[in-house]
Amino acid sequence: METYDVIVIGAGSTGAYLAKHLAKRGHKVLVIDKLPKEKIGTKYDIFHIEKREFERLGIPRPVEGDPAWAFEFEKNYNADPLTLYPKCQINPIVGLHMHEYTLLLDEEAEKAGAEFLYSCEFKDFLYDEQGKICGVLANVHGKDEKLSAKLVADCSGMAAVGRTALPDGYGVENNRLTDEDMFYVILRYVTLKDPKDYLEGSTFWAYYKSWIAPCADPHGAIIGIGACHSFEYAEKIYADMELTVPLPDYDLVKIEKGRTPYTRNPYSMVADGFFVSGDAGNLTKSVNGEGVTSSMVQILCAADTLDRALKLNKVTRSYMWEINKKYNSTQGAEFAMLRALLVGVVNAADFPEFQYAFESGIISDELLNAANGEKIPPKKLIEAAKGFVSGLAKKQIRTSTVSAAGAALKNAIEISNHYKNFPDTEAGFAEWAGKADKLYEKIGKIK
Ligand SMILES: Cc1cc2nc3c(=O)[nH]c(=O)nc-3n(C[C@H](O)[C@H](O)[C@H](O)COP(=O)(O)OP(=O)(O)OC[C@H]3O[C@@H](n4cnc5c(N)ncnc54)[C@H](O)[C@@H]3O)c2cc1C
Repeated sequence: METYDVIVIGAGSTGAYLAKHLAKRGHKVLVIDKLPKEKIGTKYDIFHIEKREFERLGIPRPVEGDPAWAFEFEKNYNADPLTLYPKCQINPIVGLHMHEYTLLLDEEAEKAGAEFLYSCEFKDFLYDEQGKICGVLANVHGKDEKLSAKLVADCSGMAAVGRTALPDGYGVENNRLTDEDMFYVILRYVTLKDPKDYLEGSTFWAYYKSWIAPCADPHGAIIGIGACHSFEYAEKIYADMELTVPLPDYDLVKIEKGRTPYTRNPYSMVADGFFVSGDAGNLTKSVNGEGVTSSMVQILCAADTLDRALKLNKVTRSYMWEINKKYNSTQGAEFAMLRALLVGVVNAADFPEFQYAFESGIISDELLNAANGEKIPPKKLIEAAKGFVSGLAKKQIRTSTVSAAGAALKNAIEISNHYKNFPDTEAGFAEWAGKADKLYEKIGKIK
């Protein structure tokens, strides 16, 4: 039987990034993917990465002319439902082709020493006499094979084939996602009929969870929507949006549909001989469901611990526990906080309130730029506070919305503090998870 230190299930962006980090630390890594190489990363075409992430994460930065590069822009507008008071946030974004970029990441992992086996489908885990994972049963070009490894990493995307195949109580939650735990994303690739509509940036309508953004064709655009429940529900919201948003005239080129996790990561992402990352571990951003770079952040939290665990032959849940601590108390806490805020505010505010927040200056360019670490000038904070008070006085904002927003803020602070106090060891975890479950019940799900 072929023996590896690590078997990574999935040659998407997450699997490639993990494989690179473990291979360059000297481990024998095999990445398997059920798809042939030419189909890798073809689930949809265009995705975005914030420009500052390339350096932070140490990933290749394609430039104009490279096969993976599609476009760049830096103006990100956020608009009210009627698009009368758009606010601009400056944040340089690079648009990339998913297939080409994923192959670039796979190549980087190969250069670091990882082996890739395409058209190789994970079927099940292999267990040793103590019932611990010690490899995988995989179908390689139509033939079942046993491959042994000290660590199996599930990076199989939404399918989460490894995580959901774990026995109950193995140490990582093995639940399948429901329709309420994911975003249904529909992308309309269009060409714009009138040159005056050619895009110089993106616009996001939070009320409709919809956006228009550049695409590889400078005369085109991608009109996207991401909603919970179903593709049908997403189409209904899109139809509602068309009634108020003055979308430019367009010719439809193609429609792409996909799903992305929109729920919390498993509280523990490690078990004996097992690690989960990427969409398989619901590591998408809680504001928009994007997951390429947020999964890489988790891998950076995990790489040194996985390296030590492999070198010392201690690939156990208890030894690797610090990965849970490191991730949950940082990005995990931030995502939990944002989820609580977003769910509360989006579920509570209605159309006129969204409209008023943009018109009155409660939402301003400066407030949006604060998300990039820029300071909000005191003048703008005073303007926002005045807008809020006057909105209440004129009944432009309902008291029920204010109390819902207050409750969301309280939940956000509570869940963030709870994540920051994630237990250092497995002791105390059951109690921590019980309290987290209760907080999530209060937070609820996006409607
Ligand atoms: C329409 C849409 C637009 C998006 N836009 C963005 C964006 O702009 N920016 C962003 O950051 N994120 C975006 N996302 C989210 C992003 O695509 C995912 O978070 C990310 O691609 C997840 O990468 P991954 O490697 O974890 O999973 P995947 O890319 O899905 O890779 C998993 C791999 O595992 C393989 N696999 C599955 N089952 C098996 C098996 N049994 N055996 C072996 N291999 C298997 C699959 O073939 C696949 O290659 C978008 C999502 C959607 C749906």
